[in-house]
Amino acid sequence: MQSVKNITNLMVGRIDEKEKEFIEKAYNFADRAHEGQKRMDGKPYFSHVYETAKILAQLGMDTETIVAGLLHDVLEDTKITEEEMRKEFGDNIVFLVNGVTKLGTLKYHGHERHVESLRKFFVAMTNDLRVVIIKFADRLHNLRTLQFIREDKRYRIAMESIEVYAPLANRLGMGKFKGELEDAAFPFAYPKEYADVEEIMKEEKNLYQKYLAEVHGELKKELHKNKVNVIEIDYRMKHKYSLWKKLLKRDMDITKINDIVALRIVVESIEECYRILGIIHSIWKPLPGRIKDYIAIPKPNGYRSIHTTIFTGSGGTAEIQIRTKEMHEEAEYGIAAHFSYKEKNYKKNYDNKTKFKWIEELKDFNYDLHNPLKYLEHLKTDFFNDRIFIFTPKGDVIDLPEDASPIDFAYAIHSDVGDHISGVKVNNKIAPILSILKNGDIIEIITKKDSHPSSKWLKYSKTNVAKKNIRSYLEKNSLLSKLKSFGRS
Ligand code: MN
Repeated sequence: MQSVKNITNLMVGRIDEKEKEFIEKAYNFADRAHEGQKRMDGKPYFSHVYETAKILAQLGMDTETIVAGLLHDVLEDTKITEEEMRKEFGDNIVFLVNGVTKLGTLKYHGHERHVESLRKFFVAMTNDLRVVIIKFADRLHNLRTLQFIREDKRYRIAMESIEVYAPLANRLGMGKFKGELEDAAFPFAYPKEYADVEEIMKEEKNLYQKYLAEVHGELKKELHKNKVNVIEIDYRMKHKYSLWKKLLKRDMDITKINDIVALRIVVESIEECYRILGIIHSIWKPLPGRIKDYIAIPKPNGYRSIHTTIFTGSGGTAEIQIRTKEMHEEAEYGIAAHFSYKEKNYKKNYDNKTKFKWIEELKDFNYDLHNPLKYLEHLKTDFFNDRIFIFTPKGDVIDLPEDASPIDFAYAIHSDVGDHISGVKVNNKIAPILSILKNGDIIEIITKKDSHPSSKWLKYSKTNVAKKNIRSYLEKNSLLSKLKSFGRS
């Protein structure tokens, strides 16, 4: 049964009477505004905004976000005006709702409307990151009811979720949303592959659970003996879509994948994380090259954890992830963890976006008005491609799209560095400028005043930033040489 209590009960202990009334008011307002409208599944339209608000409440979001979740389709799909909403709910709510509202069909059409709506959404997001969280919840519920939608539209929505929204969630460190968006879209975007993965998982699951059960039992005993205070030991299956992506990279060979199931240990302090790693390695031999310390060196999206893969002794391997409670919450909810009820000081939280410089870049990302599809292509390669992490010799991390080259790396540091590359060291060895970087490489760019970009570089650069700078250098120079020869004659 639908009831506002199902939402407010999820927020018990973190909202007062006034906030509860505010949510009730939005609930009734949205219910009335959408009256008579139906979803494609035959249910009243209100069921969609209700479920969206519930997802947000489960996420632990604050009252304003829940209210905006309930009202998120009112401006787009009902006769209610912005002014009416402002009068009833105030500026903040109108801002949040506007941020997720598509642009009108009057001024824009087709791809252009789509791209301009995305751009508008990115701009709103830079002002208030809660906009993106509402959008994810909205999209997640749409995906869960996608089977009722026309087939061509279904495919488009599923693909967009995989290509834009899930990578965006990933870059914001919202692992849980990323996984859920991808897995909800997967069967509609790639039906055959989805069926294959389901089959593989069914077969492998039992085997891996057997390995993990062994490890789990012994580890618990050992941790107890060593008086380590464990908050939680749990295991998780890898999400289906990310398993498929990994299979593609490993020749579809399931035996080459070590983290189909992973054991997860959550503790109180960082010291305990390292102690547990020591205990684990004293019982089981680790797989070389699989020990990853994302606590010392977090992923660019903020993810922290220690990973190791061990030989279980009975022929199998198992991945173990160790993290503190705080890291665990951040890994699941990313920026959303900072907007939850626990931290009411939003001003402070907004500073968080300084951690995400790329969000500002996303907003200022220009495109050719006549070519909206190109914008989407650039968006995918520059912001939402799979990322690799490259280190400067000092240990700073730069994240770049997969298959990036030293040229992309140089321009990511500064256009002046890019414009004067004369040589490159990859992991301390001289390497060609036109090569492809791998995750974890340490790159040193050697510059010379009289070295300059050549047109060949364009083919070996992946990011829009690098391409733009190279082109602008080449253009300026051909102009200069023309002027020079003009002057001579
Ligand atoms: Mn909606």
